Amino acid sequence: MAASSLEIQSVTHRYGTRVALNDVSLRLQPGRFNALLGPNGAGKSTLFALLTRLYRVQQGHILFNGVSIDRHPRRWLAQLGVVFQQSTLDLDLTVLQNLEYHGALHGLSTRTIRERSARELEWLGLADRLRDRVRSLNGGHRRRVEIARALLHAPSILLLDEASAGLDVASRRAINNAVRTLCHERGLTVLWATHLLEEVQPEDPVIILHRGQVLAQGSGHALCEAEQDPSLGALFERLTATGEASA
Ligand code: ADP
Ligand code: MG
Repeated sequence: MAASSLEIQSVTHRYGTRVALNDVSLRLQPGRFNALLGPNGAGKSTLFALLTRLYRVQQGHILFNGVSIDRHPRRWLAQLGVVFQQSTLDLDLTVLQNLEYHGALHGLSTRTIRERSARELEWLGLADRLRDRVRSLNGGHRRRVEIARALLHAPSILLLDEASAGLDVASRRAINNAVRTLCHERGLTVLWATHLLEEVQPEDPVIILHRGQVLAQGSGHALCEAEQDPSLGALFERLTATGEASA
């Protein structure tokens, strides 16, 4: 099956009079680890809220495989896996119970939920934590549970909003690598939002978002060449150097 495509066309979002997204257009590379790089207040989480339909699209269009997500919302949500910026696990439930709850919401059978939970937790290195309460897991492991949960209904697009924020370097790297594996091995189209440059590799498709506007889009390599910056870091700093975002 071909990897899924996601395109955002001229999307503007306002909170009252505050413009959080200003005529944002971008296209994810199917089957790739797409980095959405932007400082605090850039509009990353607002974009996620629109993609997950927490908010209605006020202006512009979001197209999944060429069709507006407003046309077949349930079909879209069935294809979408999400790890939100704030953890949404129930700490008092076990790992498996958290996954079961999510699976049931997606209409999966108990058997499918058990099989898929075991599979996802296995490769994420958490097979032996199935019956443990989430409260007893460290931050990195909790994030992995959220990734397993996001994969349970076999989505073709995976969105992660600052999934590694607040973790130590080793856990951050492990999670970043795990998500990259999903692109290589399953052809998932990933959107990875971050403000951390070290999570982006030079060959990744990158979208730089700042104060609600897309300032650059392309592979890290190509952007540096086109803009004549020595590194993605230098480019990012230059483009976002126009003072603190208004978060
Ligand atoms: P990021 O996730 O990149 O840090 P956000 O999407 O959270 O950015 O925020 C973008 C802008 O929108 C910021 O200026 C933020 O203060 C504002 N904002 C975010 N959520 C709300 C809200 N619910 N009401 C009003 N303003 C908001
Ligand atoms: Mg955010």
